[in-house]
Amino acid sequence: MKVLRNVEDALEFTNGNYQKTVGLVPTMGYLHAGHKSLIDEARKNNDIVIVSIFVNPTQFGPNEDYDAYPRDEKRDFKLCEDAGVDAVFTPDAKEFYKNHKTYVTIEDLKDNLCGKTRPIHFRGVLTVLTKLFHIFRPTNAYFGRKDAQQYLIVKKAVEDLNFGINIIPVPIKREDDGLAISSRNVYLSDEERKAAPILNKALEKGKSSIKKGMKAEDLIKIIKDEIETEKLADIEYVQVVDTKEIKDVDVIDRDVLVALAVRFGNTRLIDNFFYEV
Ligand code: AMP
Repeated sequence: MKVLRNVEDALEFTNGNYQKTVGLVPTMGYLHAGHKSLIDEARKNNDIVIVSIFVNPTQFGPNEDYDAYPRDEKRDFKLCEDAGVDAVFTPDAKEFYKNHKTYVTIEDLKDNLCGKTRPIHFRGVLTVLTKLFHIFRPTNAYFGRKDAQQYLIVKKAVEDLNFGINIIPVPIKREDDGLAISSRNVYLSDEERKAAPILNKALEKGKSSIKKGMKAEDLIKIIKDEIETEKLADIEYVQVVDTKEIKDVDVIDRDVLVALAVRFGNTRLIDNFFYEV
């Protein structure tokens, strides 16, 4: 497995693999079974698999956890090596964004859900992905449905800007108790960790209640009531949005994303499900 630490080496690697199918799995590291399922999917369908491991400063707001974000390069490399990854790209943030002036953003879709409290987040995501897409020119790029708004935004931006890359969604990987696996779960105290599976439980309740023609507010109430049985849970949002514009719907009469963000202490967790009418 090649370790690429700067853009020059990465471009050389890309040029050396001209005409091969390339699968890219963008990550922020501290890899877990969720990331591994993206890598496995990529491994099945591409000649070359590249994993980027980069805690991207431009997608963190000033009061967010950029410095505290967990990192473990040695463990990440081992997981990638064992999963049959061909190259990892892990550039130095200062060098990668040296005197950087150009950003990529998306209208409207960035403003709802997580964008309401993280106004610069998706601009950072699209900027780093644009750089990665230009460097590696992947055939396929893999994204978890856990970050559902990110997936929808990336899919739209890639269409709008004619990147010619297939954006492949991968299902949410969960712990045995239903909690969506996340690098940020390590922040949870024992008590918070015990409380956190309420999110999946509430979404499962929502899933079994949802039907075409139902009012979104009724579904939201079912989910919120369940979450509120857990006193450590502090709800940021539970919303039902359409999957094209990411706008709130009143009635479930088209394909929707049911998404939530909930805090346990200082840890903000997200989860969701998609419903097709
Ligand atoms: P991150 O390192 O958190 O930026 O995540 C990198 C990629 O892995 C994103 O596309 C995430 O959606 C995906 N991912 C993270 N956690 C999970 C999970 N539990 N199941 C599926 N995909 C995930």
